Amino acid sequence: MTELQQNLHKLQPILDRLRARGVPNRIAGQDVPAQSGASFDNHSPVDESFICTVARSGEADIDAAAQAARAAFPGWRDFPAAERKKVLHRIADGIVARAEEIALAECWDTGQALRFMSKAALRGAENFRFFADRAPAARDGQHLPSPTLMNITTRVPIGPVGVITPWNTPFMLSTWKIAPALAAGCTVVHKPAEFSPVTARILMDIAEEAGLPPGVWNLVNGFGEEAGRALTEHPDIKAIAFVGESKTGSMIMKQGADTLKRVHFELGGKNPVIVFDDADLDRALDAAIFMIYSLNGERCTSSSRLLVQDTIAEAFTAKLVARVNAIKLGHPLDPSTEVGPLIHKVHFDKVCSYFDVARTEGATIAAGGHAPDQPGHYVRPTLFTNAHARMRIAQEEIFGPVLTAIPFATEDEALQIANDVAYGLTAYVWTNDLPRALRVTQALEAGMIWVNSENVRHLPTPFGGVKASGIGRDGGDWSFEFYMEQKHVGFALGAHKIPQLGV
Ligand code: NAD
Repeated sequence: MTELQQNLHKLQPILDRLRARGVPNRIAGQDVPAQSGASFDNHSPVDESFICTVARSGEADIDAAAQAARAAFPGWRDFPAAERKKVLHRIADGIVARAEEIALAECWDTGQALRFMSKAALRGAENFRFFADRAPAARDGQHLPSPTLMNITTRVPIGPVGVITPWNTPFMLSTWKIAPALAAGCTVVHKPAEFSPVTARILMDIAEEAGLPPGVWNLVNGFGEEAGRALTEHPDIKAIAFVGESKTGSMIMKQGADTLKRVHFELGGKNPVIVFDDADLDRALDAAIFMIYSLNGERCTSSSRLLVQDTIAEAFTAKLVARVNAIKLGHPLDPSTEVGPLIHKVHFDKVCSYFDVARTEGATIAAGGHAPDQPGHYVRPTLFTNAHARMRIAQEEIFGPVLTAIPFATEDEALQIANDVAYGLTAYVWTNDLPRALRVTQALEAGMIWVNSENVRHLPTPFGGVKASGIGRDGGDWSFEFYMEQKHVGFALGAHKIPQLGV
């Protein structure tokens, strides 16, 4: 048996269980269908085969989940922090124990390649461990004495929160949002993406098996315009942590306005990788390729624009074309696959539409630019050259294995092009000239920048974007800043003078 066949064999019982149970909602520790009885079918991007039915929830289901989260909040808020830490570590243990199942299910549900998803499951466990260890100190504050008062601060969890996640790496992103919320003492209503509902449910099961009290974490499935909207409008939900498209973020901000929602947005990107001619070009090539073609290019931090200095552009691009043409497109459960099928026909059509956009705009399709003639939403890794900064292929987030290469002559021009987009999530700079690296990183409009490196996530560092790429930061203590409220208390040290009115 090939490794692919072995993996398909291991997947089968997981699919059988999913088909038998479907993905109901989980509210207050109970499996419940949508109150309307509605459901939708979930299909695999690999071959469009049916995976399972999923609850199609609306306002009533969100209301039930929000009420459960509200009822569970005082208990979880006051749960001893050391115990909360233990529960979160047990969730991490549960993820590790089921990492293979999670990875296989994630690949089948999203089309992401196994070589990346097995790591994504383990990263999910690391997210829980990281925030578990920080839970006991989350409420620590400061002592800010004044002449008349002893001022102290503390932090308290904000209350029940809504978490809305996208489909690109749904398991990892769910842990990234939910682990700090739970560590802070918040209760959660999670609405996963309708295109990829499977692993959110596995995660929920793991959490309850780890001893998380019922109602602390509730899972409601459905469409963005229905369940998602209702969650953002619910008065008992105090904050919304959202990962997804910029235009959805804008809608959520409007939807949450009446109930004054606190929002945290991790949105889209059109991130530049800037390669100067003094850089280590072999490493730059590896990193540029990795950052756009891994995870099917369905990656918010992908380097979807290659800005390459004109002195080396021709040689660099020639090597790039050869490598892109050699990328292995294939079945996500084949361990040798580098790029799998895109999540959904709708997204496949969107990505493919840019091939015509590129032609119309006068760019060159130097690699890929077509979909192989086979079932599933497969797209050949694609490279556009002869592009310039104002083309749509250089401005819009394509969110697929598609790279737009743009030459530049000077440092100023590189910066001008790099910043000339609506987004500002990440940027990557390749140069061995230290003063240049300092100048460029200072001037780049991005929330996260790596110099001579691909994106290497370190959990204590701030993660998030500027401009249309987001509001707020995750990671380290920044996550707690979002899920918690600062509280100040001033204690009079004696009988200081109080202004007397009406005396
Ligand atoms: P999307 O915005 O279409 O959907 C994301 C989630 O929002 C889904 O659960 C969806 O059901 C829900 N939703 C949609 N409309 C809603 C509404 N009106 N109210 C409430 N919820 C609503 O995004 P997607 O297509 O699933 O994901 C891809 C996008 O996510 C890309 O733009 C990508 O860059 C972004 N992303 C960003 C980061 C980051 O950290 N910055 C990480 C991953 C993905």
